Amino acid sequence: MSYAGLIEATGRVNDFLNAGSVLSWDARTMMPKGGAETRAKQLATLAVAARNLLCSDEMKRALEGAEAEVAGKPEDSPEARIVAQVREAIAYHERIPTELLRRKTELGASAHEVWAEAREKADFSIFAPALTTMVDINREMAQAIGFDAHPYDALMYRFEPGTTHAGLTTLFARLREGMIPLVRAIAEAEKPRSEFLFRDYPVDAQMDFALNMAKRIGYDTDRGRLDTTVHPFEVSFTRNDVRITTRVNKNYMPMSLFGALHEAGHAMYEQGVDPAYTRTPLATDLISLYAVGGVSFGAHESQSRLWENHVGRSHAFWANHMSDIRAAYPGTLDDVSDEEFYRAVNRSEPSFIRVEADELTYDFHIMLRCELEAKLVDGSLEVADLPEAWNAAMKDYLGVDVPDDANGVLQDVHWSSGQIGTFCNYTIGNIMAAQLFSTATAENPGIQTALDGADYTPLRDWLTDKVAQHGRRFSRDELLENATGRPLDPEPYITHLTDKFSDIYALA
Ligand code: ZN
Repeated sequence: MSYAGLIEATGRVNDFLNAGSVLSWDARTMMPKGGAETRAKQLATLAVAARNLLCSDEMKRALEGAEAEVAGKPEDSPEARIVAQVREAIAYHERIPTELLRRKTELGASAHEVWAEAREKADFSIFAPALTTMVDINREMAQAIGFDAHPYDALMYRFEPGTTHAGLTTLFARLREGMIPLVRAIAEAEKPRSEFLFRDYPVDAQMDFALNMAKRIGYDTDRGRLDTTVHPFEVSFTRNDVRITTRVNKNYMPMSLFGALHEAGHAMYEQGVDPAYTRTPLATDLISLYAVGGVSFGAHESQSRLWENHVGRSHAFWANHMSDIRAAYPGTLDDVSDEEFYRAVNRSEPSFIRVEADELTYDFHIMLRCELEAKLVDGSLEVADLPEAWNAAMKDYLGVDVPDDANGVLQDVHWSSGQIGTFCNYTIGNIMAAQLFSTATAENPGIQTALDGADYTPLRDWLTDKVAQHGRRFSRDELLENATGRPLDPEPYITHLTDKFSDIYALA
C-alpha cells in the first residue's frame, strides 16, 4: 500500500465522521425529541466505526507504505505531517481499552438524566455518585493515555494538545493578576445604560440582521446556512458546507447578533481551509474524532472570539453599523447614540452563570472549572466537597454568592457526558485572539484602516493566510510562532482588556 492508499483510507474515516456530524446537526436543529434515543446509538455506531477503521490492519499497512514513500519529504510538509498524525492517532486510540470506552459511553447516557434531575431540583447530592464514577473513569483514561507530570495533561491532550497543568497554572496566575483589579474597579464604577437592549426586537428581524452581519464580515452563505437553536454552534461537513446557529430572545437582542458573529468566526476558519486538504487528516481530528480542519479547540475559539469581540464589539464596528441596526429595528434605537450602544454591548457584570458572562469575567468561570477539574483528577479534591469549593472560588474571583447548586456546580452539561479537560480552550482562545489581532493590526496598518471603513476583507485574508488555510498541518504553537513570532502570550489580551474597560468605565 502507498501514500495514495493512506489518503483513500483516511478519507473514509472522514466520511464516517462527517456523516455523524450531519446526524448531530439534525439532532440539534430539526429532530423531534422522540428521535433522541436511536440517534444517540447511530452516532455511537459511526464513531466506533471510524475508530475501528483508523486502527484497522488495512490502515496500518497503508501507513507503512506511506511512511516509506514520504521518507525524504521535509518534516513539516503536508505529506510528512499526515503520516505522523495518523501514526500518533492510532497509538492514542490503541492505548485506551475499548472496555473503558464502553463504560464511559454507557455511564454518559444515564448520567445525563441524573444530572438533569439534580439541576432541576438544585440538589448536587443526586448527581454526586454518577460524577464520582465519571471522575474515576477519567482517571483511568489519563493513566491509559499516559502523562509526564499531571493526569490532567492527558485529558487535555485530546482537545488542546500541548497544554499542561503546569502551563495553565502559570497562565492563570498572570491573568488573575492583570484582570482582578479591573473587575474590582468596575464593581465600584458607574454602569453604562443598557435598558434599550431589552426592548422588543422581533425574532425574524433579529435573524435577518444576524445573518446580514455574519455575511458582512465574510461568512460565505453559498457554503453555509444559519438556523436557530437553544445553544449556538458551528459544524462543518467539509469546507464547502459549514453551518452555524444562533439563539434568539425577543427581549434581549445581543444574544442573536453576537452568537451569529461568534459562530461565523468558527465557520470562516473551516471555510478557509486549503481545498487540497478536504477529506484528509489535515481536515480531520483523528484524536478527538471530529471532522474538523481547525488544529485545536482553542485555536478554533480564537477565531470566533476575534470576530465577536475584537471586531463585533469594537468602537469602529458600531461607528459603521449603528445606522444598519437602527434600520433593522425602526424606531427602537432612536434615543441611543453610537457610543451608548458600544458601551452597552461591552458592559461587564459579574454573574454566576458561565454562558451569560461578559468578555472580562468569562475567563474566571473557565479558571475555576479547570482548577477544580485538575484537583478532582489528581485526587486532591473529593466530589462531595465540590459545591463548597465551587462557591468559594466564585466568591473569591468574582465576588458573587452562588444561590444554589443549579446556578453553581450543576450549570454545565459537560461533566454528565464524561468530558473533563475541555474548558481551557475558551481562555486559550481568548489569549490567542488578542495575540493574533494585535499582530495583524500592528504589522499591517492597512487592516485597521480597512476596519475603520467597514471593510473586513484585509483582516479575513490575513487570518486565512496565517491560520485557516493550514488546517491541521501546523500545531497550535507552530501557528502562533509563524503568525506572531512567539508562543502563547497573555500580554496582548491583558492590554486589550485593560484599555477597553478602562475607557468604557472611565477608570484612572
Ligand atoms: Zn465558540
